[in-house]
Amino acid sequence: MHCGALIEPESGQVKHNVLVVVEGDRVKQVEENGRSASGAHVIDLSDHTCLPGLVDAHTHTLLQGDITAEDYDAQLLKESTAYRAILATRNVRRALDYGFTTIRDLETEGAGYADVDLKKAINNGVIPGPRMKVVGRAMDVTGAYPLQGYNWEIQVPHGVQLVDGPDQARKAVREQISFGADWIKVYSDRGYFLRPDGVLDDIPTFTLEELRAIVDEAHREHHKVASHAMALNGVHNSVEAGVDSVEHGFYISDADIKAMVQRGIFYVPTIYVGEYVAQGRANAGAKVWLDMIKVHADTFNRALKAGVKIAFGTDVGGFDWSIDPAVEFSLMVKYGMTPMQAIRGATSNAAQLLDMQNEIGTVSPGAFADLVAVKGDPTNDITLLEKIDFVMKGGEIVKSPSR
Ligand SMILES: [Zn+2]
Repeated sequence: MHCGALIEPESGQVKHNVLVVVEGDRVKQVEENGRSASGAHVIDLSDHTCLPGLVDAHTHTLLQGDITAEDYDAQLLKESTAYRAILATRNVRRALDYGFTTIRDLETEGAGYADVDLKKAINNGVIPGPRMKVVGRAMDVTGAYPLQGYNWEIQVPHGVQLVDGPDQARKAVREQISFGADWIKVYSDRGYFLRPDGVLDDIPTFTLEELRAIVDEAHREHHKVASHAMALNGVHNSVEAGVDSVEHGFYISDADIKAMVQRGIFYVPTIYVGEYVAQGRANAGAKVWLDMIKVHADTFNRALKAGVKIAFGTDVGGFDWSIDPAVEFSLMVKYGMTPMQAIRGATSNAAQLLDMQNEIGTVSPGAFADLVAVKGDPTNDITLLEKIDFVMKGGEIVKSPSR
């Protein structure tokens, strides 16, 4: 492959006129001003900038947008898991077309372990899609997660596995891992409200004892824990319990930011989805979502300055899959990152979060041949990542510019 330029996120370097040699599903060689061996099939990307395949570390392939409770409830009440899996099949194809060659799918929202099957179908070559890390059902405590508010005489489905007490917590971790969960996902807070002093407060879900049991059991089995934590107590308890990633983190106290740096806990900010759902949720009565946009931007900036490890994640599925999740990059840059830092979030940093450092997020010998390319220089104009027109996953071209 002849790349006009190659972005190396880890070093922050951009090399020019680069030959990338791919053999099978791996990168064999990367050489500046290199010449292709005779007999090799050459892909001409000399007018393109190449970079490692992107990683979205927070997706919901089995969800089709949920601005309001009604949007969400209709999917669980009116759509079978089979139908939702068909929609998810379309979504993973879209993820790949957008340039995301790896995703961490953070729960199915009531569709059981359909994500495990989706991943299996991709790995077996049945359907096209990115590499997947999946969590299955996720966990929350009784009374904290939709569906809520129905006649108490009717049994309604829940978007998560309900777990109460440390013993049930340990058992749920064991069960989810046995059914194929790569990661464990917990919901650590709900009921957000802005205090007069500007702190975003919440109702914590799990007790610290319960969260500690979940984290301990997952780590004992060499699995990691992602925590949905939007505000003060949810984030604090997650950090105290030793989770591996804080998802959303609209408000994080300075003390918890410091602890996240010390313990190497990742922050997956999901900025775009917050702005996308805000007006709709405000119209439905929760005005706090409009206030949360500013709180989130401030938190992101403080975390960035303090040196928290930040991975790119969008919560796509929380917004419609017809929107390219790469819109997140522009907001990361708007709120303080350089384009290269934002790219690092979706490549080398995300690879580290997923413990796949030498396999993805890099174009170097031995890594998977997961590459994307775009016309122009995304380190100059980050919005170009919304126009990726070449995608290779594991040495196979899945999207190519029309010429
Ligand atoms: Zn999510």
